[in-house]
Amino acid sequence: MRVAVIGGGPAGLLTALLVKQRGVADHVVVWERSRGEDTGFGVILPSESLDLLRRAAPDLADAVARHLARWERTGVSRNGELWTTKATPPMAAIARSTLKRLLWEACGAQGVVLREREAPKLSALASSYDLVVCADGAGSMADRAGFTTTVEEVGPPYAWLGLDQALGELNFLGVSAVDGCYMAHAYPFSDSASTFLVEGARALGPADLSVLFGLPVRPDPVRDNLIWRRFRERTVRPWSRSNIVLVGDAAHTVHYSIGSGTHLAFEDAFVLVESMAVADYLPRALSVYEETRRPVVERFQEQGRTSAAWFSQVEDVFDLPLSRFAASLLTRGGSFGRDVGT
Ligand SMILES: Cc1cc2nc3c(=O)[nH]c(=O)nc-3n(C[C@H](O)[C@H](O)[C@H](O)COP(=O)(O)OP(=O)(O)OC[C@H]3O[C@@H](n4cnc5c(N)ncnc54)[C@H](O)[C@@H]3O)c2cc1C
Repeated sequence: MRVAVIGGGPAGLLTALLVKQRGVADHVVVWERSRGEDTGFGVILPSESLDLLRRAAPDLADAVARHLARWERTGVSRNGELWTTKATPPMAAIARSTLKRLLWEACGAQGVVLREREAPKLSALASSYDLVVCADGAGSMADRAGFTTTVEEVGPPYAWLGLDQALGELNFLGVSAVDGCYMAHAYPFSDSASTFLVEGARALGPADLSVLFGLPVRPDPVRDNLIWRRFRERTVRPWSRSNIVLVGDAAHTVHYSIGSGTHLAFEDAFVLVESMAVADYLPRALSVYEETRRPVVERFQEQGRTSAAWFSQVEDVFDLPLSRFAASLLTRGGSFGRDVGT
């Protein structure tokens, strides 16, 4: 079998690696158009993600584990007053560029053909490969190929920045300003850097944000484009047509405040490849993949919307006693099973 993968993000690279490793396909090609130009910031990787990797690719899991920044407490601060609690289970984050590099190297070692350029047209790939995996993120080519995509803006406007220092743990930092409340979700992703994702009413720049939070925040060193926007939750139907299948953000996005996008991308890759390994023909495998994954993804999207709505209405609870404010934040009207963040 010949498989083409559009996009070398977590979903595409893990799919390519597993397809090759499980012997499902003998020829696998990945196209990635922006190698080395990815954001310099980090993403939270729940322990389940590492467990998943360890089951199929223990060496890769070990390499990822060596680069994780880990923490065991979660902090909630409001106007400088701090409340902390045990993070259950312990959490971890990694630089997105490091994660992608490790996956890229693992694919290369497994014999996946890696092309550092824009992928050919979807129709051209579909006619020359047995399967095309669209793992090209939230602006997928699939949107122009007969799949039905709906996008809903959820949560408050946010911007993604960083800090040149490692915070000790995940911190939710609230500050009230004259124009309203600002909330930051900040966590370490290496021994010298942290992600600082901020939400608020006005599109403040790094200098104003540094003053407001008392931390020297900076824009992305790679993209250097501080953009405030609302999160776009993406839903696509169906996830496969003929010999084209969608994985990761190409198929769905989930609000960042429950820190699950990368994990869901990994799970998609696992279930898709597992379905292909056991099913006797491809259409059946693609249906099993969607039947298995869609209910899980819908549950995460619902949790993401609940969480996003909490952050949109933070002013309603901002003046509660700090411990009650923190409890409201960490449960966000529902139980996520872990203290999750961006
Ligand atoms: C603000 C924010 C914070 C987040 N924080 C977290 C977090 O803490 N934890 C977490 O798990 N997730 C987080 N996420 C979500 C996470 O980043 C995504 O869910 C995850 O990266 C999805 O992986 P993917 O491989 O599906 O897509 P992507 O990571 O978007 O990868 C798609 C790849 O395809 C490439 N590509 C696209 N089109 C083409 C083309 N035509 N030709 C060649 N290459 C192409 C792109 O360059 C890109 O590398 C966050 C998202 C946002 C927006």
